[in-house]
Amino acid sequence: MKKHNFSAGPSILPAPVMEKAAAAVQELNGMGLSLIEISHRSKEFIAIMEKAQALALELTGLTDKGYKALFLQGGASTQFLMTAANLMKSKAGYINTGAWSDKAIKEAKRYGEVIEIASSKDKNFNYIPKGQDIPSDLDYLHITTNNTIFGTQFHELPQTDVPLIADMSSDIFSRQFDYSAFDLFYAGAQKNMGPAGTTLVIVKESLLAQMNTDVPSMLSYNIHADKGSMFNTPPVFPIYTSMLTLEWLKEQGGLQAIEKHNQAKAKLVYDEIDRNAAFEGFAAKEDRSYMNATFNLAEGVDGTAFDALWNAANISGLKGHRSVGGYRASIYNALSLESAQHLVNIMQEFEKTL
Ligand SMILES: *Cc1c(COP(=O)(O)O)cnc(C)c1O
Repeated sequence: MKKHNFSAGPSILPAPVMEKAAAAVQELNGMGLSLIEISHRSKEFIAIMEKAQALALELTGLTDKGYKALFLQGGASTQFLMTAANLMKSKAGYINTGAWSDKAIKEAKRYGEVIEIASSKDKNFNYIPKGQDIPSDLDYLHITTNNTIFGTQFHELPQTDVPLIADMSSDIFSRQFDYSAFDLFYAGAQKNMGPAGTTLVIVKESLLAQMNTDVPSMLSYNIHADKGSMFNTPPVFPIYTSMLTLEWLKEQGGLQAIEKHNQAKAKLVYDEIDRNAAFEGFAAKEDRSYMNATFNLAEGVDGTAFDALWNAANISGLKGHRSVGGYRASIYNALSLESAQHLVNIMQEFEKTL
């Protein structure tokens, strides 16, 4: 029986996507060949790549707005250094909202001066720092829009004239947004889009024109853009699966519809966290993530019985990250309202045992 999957990543994908992806591994579109045994330069795969890129731009409202979509490798972790390698001339600003921002900062320091504009480290990253003055002489400002581990999310973007770069690994395609506020944003596939192995980068063409030229080929956005994400062999399976998820998302009604769905799930879970005497939320209320709901046991509550309950109730992936402890319910696009309700029911069942 399929479990209720609250895993933070790799995470749940839509059931119809899984079915189609599995079928394509057997045989792609009646070709007599598997998706993973054809040339990435075949017309069949080129059509898949082009469709995935077009859907990524369409869903973010960036078609014909001067942006390019790239499907690269190396995860978001490679983007931490790629952004700096391509964009850092002398100094860049970073808002530090947790472990992933921290890692991005560490990589950027190899390429120039990093100015930590703000940090929420003083409270174990349970909030989003706001209202900073952003110096106008930065090469760029980097933020992490959703902090997967801590369960916080930017609900408003910092105001700045310098290029805005975002790690959107865990909230891309989850809500309506003015994506044109970003000059470059990236996301590892494995949270809201597909299996691990590809990373989506959406970049403004005018930014490509300003990038450093002395960059190793595999790390150069310009080379990948010029070659249509086919500079080397692309990871065909994760890209195909991502294309299927983006098709699914469009069928659901795009970002407007998925945002409504995600907000309904988040409301269910957060209302219960706030109501239930056994638990308390981790993140500051106004900064709560619609993708990862973090919560701890209330003071003096022993969680042994809760762990037994949710495990027996076919729930998976609820354990919090070690730096926060407690629990984390990741409620990505593909998670159903029924799964969210099921978790709430189990939380209520546990409260009755106190
Ligand atoms: C998961 C995650 C990453 C790490 O991605 P990799 O693809 O494993 O490198 C980076 N940033 C955020 C916000 C994440 O959620």
